[in-house]
Amino acid sequence: MLKAQLYDRLLHKQSLARFTAARLGGAAEWLYIARDSYHELAEMVLAAWDDGLPVRILGGGANVLVSDDGVRGLVIINRLSEIIFGAFAGDSNVIAASGTSLSTLTRRCQSQGLAGMEWAVSVPGTVGGAVVNNAGAHGGDMAGVVRRIALLDAQHGFRVLPVESLDYAYRHSSLKARDDRRYLVLLAALSLPPGAPDDIQTTMDTFIAQRKRTQPPGASLGSIFKNPPGDYAGRLIESVGLKGYTIGGAQVSPLHANFFINVGDATAHDYYALIQHAQRTVREQTGVELELEVELVGEW
Ligand SMILES: Cc1cc2nc3c(=O)[nH]c(=O)nc-3n(C[C@H](O)[C@H](O)[C@H](O)COP(=O)(O)OP(=O)(O)OC[C@H]3O[C@@H](n4cnc5c(N)ncnc54)[C@H](O)[C@@H]3O)c2cc1C
Repeated sequence: MLKAQLYDRLLHKQSLARFTAARLGGAAEWLYIARDSYHELAEMVLAAWDDGLPVRILGGGANVLVSDDGVRGLVIINRLSEIIFGAFAGDSNVIAASGTSLSTLTRRCQSQGLAGMEWAVSVPGTVGGAVVNNAGAHGGDMAGVVRRIALLDAQHGFRVLPVESLDYAYRHSSLKARDDRRYLVLLAALSLPPGAPDDIQTTMDTFIAQRKRTQPPGASLGSIFKNPPGDYAGRLIESVGLKGYTIGGAQVSPLHANFFINVGDATAHDYYALIQHAQRTVREQTGVELELEVELVGEW
């Protein structure tokens, strides 16, 4: 497709608040929602790279704090969802498109009698975001199930990368560490062992109940900080008396202190001020430097 025709699909100056889990943030200069065509998504990304336009791919926006000033260039919301089950080369048995929701993938695997994804049943976001972040919960993570990914890379073109090259560690990957962000995760191939669907369901139900008990509802970004070695960010924030602390419309959850809730019309500025306040207070009172798990996106 001609670039001009492609660019006709772009929306100008669209608020990103409804595309992020915290329901806040400014506008994308240009927005494209990828819903049904891989071909068009790839063409769009390649055209934008070719024109030197900054590109940011978002899945569920569940781990990003978008600035009030918005994001320059092109933001792509990836909604391309597909799951294929089968016996694929190199011992993988599930291939998931990067825009597939993680919880949908988990439920589909359960119904196919494939175990190993139960931890992800209530982790918001997409396969692409989970691949980049090495999402994990309840002792499982992407590093444990991914075998290889397919990637479009501004520098190297189309590539298939084995999991070893992703350098996975706790909420870390070689992709996340790249400042240029000039790549698009297309697919992830997973290897999952067989399991009894009823047993898998029971484990999923346990994890869902545990989350309901310990994590607050409402608009948030999940855990704001990584857990420091041997401790919990939530415990540290609670220990310095910040549960319930509020700046503007952003509040440290009274239920779980590592969750910050958008209780009203929080701005990204409120949210970030709360992050900095918690980080500073914990540093001053305990000596521990909390490291952000969420990512700042846009003009800060
Ligand atoms: C209530 C709540 C609970 C949570 N609980 C957990 C938890 O238990 N464990 C956990 O690990 N996380 C948790 N999170 C955080 C979040 O769910 C994960 O980080 C998730 O993997 C983010 O996926 P996403 O699609 O929303 O990514 P986004 O936030 O949209 O993006 C994250 C990063 O990945 C990049 N990216 C996304 N898709 C692509 C792609 N296709 N190609 C290239 N780059 C891409 C983005 O540019 C960005 O850098 C929670 C969040 C919330 C709101």
